[in-house]
Amino acid sequence: MNQLISIVLPVFNEEAGIQVTIDTLLNYIEQQEESYELIFVNDGSSDKSVPIIKKAMNQNNHIKLVEFSRNFGHQLAITAGLHYAKGDAVVVMDADLQDPPEVIPQMIQKWHEGYQIVYGKRMQRDGETVFKKFTAKMFYRTFEKLATIKMPLDTGDFRLMDRKAVNQLLKLHEKDPFVRGQVTWIGFRQTSVKYHRQERIAGETKYPLSKMIKLALDGITSFSMKPLQFVNVFSMVPLVSSVFYLGYMIASRNYSVASVGITILLFTLGLLMLSIGIIGSYLGRVLDQVNDRPRYIVSKTEGFEERNKGIHN
Ligand code: UDP
Ligand code: MG
Repeated sequence: MNQLISIVLPVFNEEAGIQVTIDTLLNYIEQQEESYELIFVNDGSSDKSVPIIKKAMNQNNHIKLVEFSRNFGHQLAITAGLHYAKGDAVVVMDADLQDPPEVIPQMIQKWHEGYQIVYGKRMQRDGETVFKKFTAKMFYRTFEKLATIKMPLDTGDFRLMDRKAVNQLLKLHEKDPFVRGQVTWIGFRQTSVKYHRQERIAGETKYPLSKMIKLALDGITSFSMKPLQFVNVFSMVPLVSSVFYLGYMIASRNYSVASVGITILLFTLGLLMLSIGIIGSYLGRVLDQVNDRPRYIVSKTEGFEERNKGIHN
């Protein structure tokens, strides 16, 4: 039986490198004995990415395109790609060749060995700023301490997933998904292949600091309740201090406490604000969930059968 491998590539303004990505990827995937489909998810690009993909589609009917109506973000682009993928296994990778296609045959090999999830583990990262590498490293270590799931260190979204795993993943309807956390959460037989993360072939990173922070917060708030628990721990500080202070006042009969009082007041106020902030971020997620908006809206798809069209939730 000929198996199908779907390759999902989220695309946000990748005109500078998308053609090379397509060519390189085809070069590797066509050598595989499995058949394939390439699914590009255009996440609201405003450059020439789409015309370049469409041109490639005219020459190769394995190439498919899902277009978002605006930029919904990398994680939702992956989620949409998984939704449209028909493969027995689905590979998710960047559209900038940072995730090397030559690793895909190794992933497929592991899949044939019976693993349902094969994630890429970055051994080295080229062409990324010291800041990016440092923040990423810090994030994964912090996440490990906080989260209820044991996410493998130094893995991004480059991975192969078996159909079964994909189907389970699609049942998770989180509004701001942290896909790599969800993949860990669903379980299944997982293994890794090591790889050397390349420099971007062209263009700039599409992950400015603001998007990195959002991803980190989504990751932590969706897989950890510890920040909420910190509030309880922190609240002990003013509580205990106030008891001691009361003892001191009574013992020394010194009730003129203006300056010290102000210090304590400010301290308590700071803690209160911190608590409210943390609760707010969780509340934000709850609100999002309650709102129940579709997570993304596909304005158009091409290269799919008719019944796949429409809005998915
Ligand atoms: N991307 C996307 N939507 C976004 C940001 C990024 O679809 O809002 C895509 C981007 O085109 C790339 C992948 O997600 O294919 C990963 O982004 P990028 O390479 O910029 O991240 P980095 O590798 O620098 O962490
Ligand atoms: Mg990249």
